[in-house]
Amino acid sequence: MASSHRHSVSARWAAWVWPLGAVAAVAVLQLAGLLGPLERALGDARFQILQRPASDRLVVVAIDPPSLQALDVWPWPRRYHAQVVDRLFEAGARAVAVDIDFSSPSNPDDDALLEGAFARAEGRVLLPLFRQPVESPQGIRWAYNAPLERFAPYVGGASVNAWPDADGLVRQLPLRDHWPGGAVPSLSAVLAERLYGRSLEAGDDRYRVDFSIDPDTIPQLSFVDVLEGRFAPADVAGRTVLIGATAAELRDDLPVPVHRTLAGVRLHALGVNAIVDGRALQPVPAPILLALGLAIALLYARYAGRWSWQQALAATAAGALGLFLAACALQAAAPYLLEAAPHMVLLALLFAGALVGRIDRQSLDLLVQSLRLRHLNVFMHNVVENSFDGILTVEPDGRIRTANTAAARILAIDGEALVGRDAKGLIPELFAPAGAGGGRMLLGQRETFGLRGGRDRFPLEVGLTALDASGQTYYVAILRDITERQRQRALLEHQALHDSLTGLPNRNLLADRLGHAVAQARREAAPMALLLLDLDRFKAVNDTLGHQIGDRLLCHVAERLVGPLREVDTIARLGGDEFALILPAIESEESAGAVAARLLETLGAPFSVDGLSLEIGASIGIALFPEHAEEGPRLLQCADVAMYQAKQAGGGVAVYDEDRDHNSVRHLTITGELRKAIETRQLSFHYQPKIDLASGRVVGAEALIRWQHPELGFVPPDEFIVLAEQTGLIEALTAWSFDQTLAQAARWRALGLELGIAVNLSARTLHDEGLPDMVAAALSRHRVAPGLLTVEITETAIMLDPERAARVVGRLHDLGLRLSVDDFGTGHSSLAYLKRLPLDELKIDRTFVMQMTENDDDAVIVRSTVDLSHSLGLKVVAEGVELEEHLQILRGLACDTAQGYFISRPLTPEAFEDWCRAQGALPSRPTSAPALALDGVLATA
Ligand code: C2E
Ligand code: CA
Ligand code: CA
Repeated sequence: MASSHRHSVSARWAAWVWPLGAVAAVAVLQLAGLLGPLERALGDARFQILQRPASDRLVVVAIDPPSLQALDVWPWPRRYHAQVVDRLFEAGARAVAVDIDFSSPSNPDDDALLEGAFARAEGRVLLPLFRQPVESPQGIRWAYNAPLERFAPYVGGASVNAWPDADGLVRQLPLRDHWPGGAVPSLSAVLAERLYGRSLEAGDDRYRVDFSIDPDTIPQLSFVDVLEGRFAPADVAGRTVLIGATAAELRDDLPVPVHRTLAGVRLHALGVNAIVDGRALQPVPAPILLALGLAIALLYARYAGRWSWQQALAATAAGALGLFLAACALQAAAPYLLEAAPHMVLLALLFAGALVGRIDRQSLDLLVQSLRLRHLNVFMHNVVENSFDGILTVEPDGRIRTANTAAARILAIDGEALVGRDAKGLIPELFAPAGAGGGRMLLGQRETFGLRGGRDRFPLEVGLTALDASGQTYYVAILRDITERQRQRALLEHQALHDSLTGLPNRNLLADRLGHAVAQARREAAPMALLLLDLDRFKAVNDTLGHQIGDRLLCHVAERLVGPLREVDTIARLGGDEFALILPAIESEESAGAVAARLLETLGAPFSVDGLSLEIGASIGIALFPEHAEEGPRLLQCADVAMYQAKQAGGGVAVYDEDRDHNSVRHLTITGELRKAIETRQLSFHYQPKIDLASGRVVGAEALIRWQHPELGFVPPDEFIVLAEQTGLIEALTAWSFDQTLAQAARWRALGLELGIAVNLSARTLHDEGLPDMVAAALSRHRVAPGLLTVEITETAIMLDPERAARVVGRLHDLGLRLSVDDFGTGHSSLAYLKRLPLDELKIDRTFVMQMTENDDDAVIVRSTVDLSHSLGLKVVAEGVELEEHLQILRGLACDTAQGYFISRPLTPEAFEDWCRAQGALPSRPTSAPALALDGVLATA
């Protein structure tokens, strides 16, 4: 009980604290001037409501636009003013107040006239005193303006200054103003007091102008009308007249409430009116205001506790309205201004307090929360609406729930029309196809298509997510029109796969198409062809005429090449002046050749580029699937080899020829295996006997290298020697050859067989300046006399680099070796040149010897070679002796030595020894049978 009692006391106490605190707070606000704006607004509103007419005791004579127009010199001559003053008094005016600046003299005549008028007025004229702030080097100072001294005896003076409030509007007029030597009364104060005997008791220096008086109801005459006597004397008789400027151009307007601006003279007229009517407004004294505030606070505290918040709001509003109306009523009845602004603020505070007191913590939180949610909601709505992407929310059955502006734009359907529509009709692939997935929505992001307006297909990117909201699943689809993106991508793809100059497919696309063409050819078991075309002399065009012409020429070439092709054919530019053509389903080598010929023909006609007529040839290489290669890249290689061959032949067309392709698989294998072959003794030497034609006795042997490969079988020396040269293996091979053959010679010598050994030198080694040293080392190692070693050098090898060959040959000769020119007659060596070399013999090429019985030319060649050699002091060897007849002819020609199958094929060392025994060149072994084959032949010699 005690605690609840205490609680209720403190609650009651709290109920009083807030209202009193609010009164104090408002008082502070008021004193700080913070309620000024509200106060002024309310005051102006009251004036607006209480509008009423002016009294007719004042007349304004206005220096208005018609007057300025009629008397078009400015400033007006003062005689006008004199005349007006006279006329006004003649008409019976009670007094005249002139709000015109006469503080400086004008021309003496006019000033005298005006002075006369003032004198006649007998003290009933009032002239203005005013002060103005002037900027001077010492700071702002006041400049005081009074009428000319000469008028002073006849006129009175009154201040016409008016000062604006904080917001720049003039609401109050002074009763008096500071002046050097004491205060001076204001114009309105003087007129009201002197002429109407009304004075203000206010202790204040100022009073509020009653703007509820309508300034338009103040009687007014135009200056020019008065000057020219166009007015009824009754209008001024017995009245006070105020003369002043109303024309806007004279800039005597002041900003005021309610009426916005008012000419100074009319403002003063309002002031006089107010005083005369007893309506110079005064604020309600502060103690009364405070008392009113307290009363409101206490009433609120007393009753507010019982009201609901709606009731409190209604009471507050009613209170505020009541206050305002009361202020209006008071102001209408008496010259008092009830500044209700503080009380209204107080009411607002009290209401807020009552509200806060009523709301507990939780509901306050809720309020804040809901405000925040509202804010978030608005925010999210804005985000969605302003999104560049289209955003749809979709019901599980596919109906569109909401759509943002962008979605409407992308789908070209009004946003409202979208709602409720079936999304499938606009984005058909939003769902998995019915069947397997059973019409489920496809989550995730992908590129599909949309139907603009439900009809026109366009590329669309859709990102679909599922959203669980209040126990139901919705889908959010983010839409992006990717028309432009796809266009760009297609463009990029095209650029990546096409040559920018000619627009033809490039190497990449060719590789791709070739892959397809090969695959198709394989499937259909149909042959196909790949052509590689390279322009001849294009480089010259480019170098001499410039790249621009070159480029244009290439474009023309591309155009022409397309001509003879079928739809299924592909032409590509591989770069530079190289083009490739895929001809699928080509029947044969011949038809490929025909196409190639046609292409050459179209390129045959001159090209006209920039007024130039350019002729250009081309070389075409043809490779066929599956004949030459079964894979695209290899096919391309083959075509390249063929093209190169065509080029070497001086242009035209060449079909791939494996034998001439040093890059063929076989050749690559051979090269790879060769090194191994030396080590694993796959290589060996066979020896072919050479016999002396005159005696029939064996005089030597040619060492011929042999390679028996485990898989490839017998590999002919012609083939792998060239490859060894190309891969640099030849050096090791040559060293090995000399080592083998000289070892054999040493072995035979040991057996009592003193035979000369001939070793073939490859073209490459002939130019190896280290060769002589190597040979010398081998000779001494095997202790073989140099005179027993013959090296066979081909004619063509010598002619490759005659200078160097001569040096090497010279040094070999110096070693004491015999030198033989092999394959003589097949090359183009000049005998004159050969004569300069230290040679020992010539070997007539076997092709001549073999055919000399059938071909007379060959017989002539053999005969003349023998004669020529002898004339040069050289021995002659004839190789390729296949028939007995050959032997006889050669013997008849006095040829020195013979070698050939008829005598013996190349033999293994063992077989060679047997052969020699058979010839009686070696003491026969007890077991071996005498070889008789050649006995008869030799015997006939
Ligand atoms: P080559 O120097 O002209 O060798 C003679 C070729 O003619 C040998 O072929 C030999 O077997 C063949 N021959 C001999 N008599 C007759 C005949 O009556 N009728 C016919 N039709 N052919 C006959 P092989 O052994 O195939 O050698 C071919 C070429 O290989 C040689 O031509 C030579 O240039 C080169 N060669 C052979 N062995 C070596 C070697 O050890 N080193 C080098 N660098 N080249 C070698
Ligand atoms: Ca040879
Ligand atoms: Ca030969």
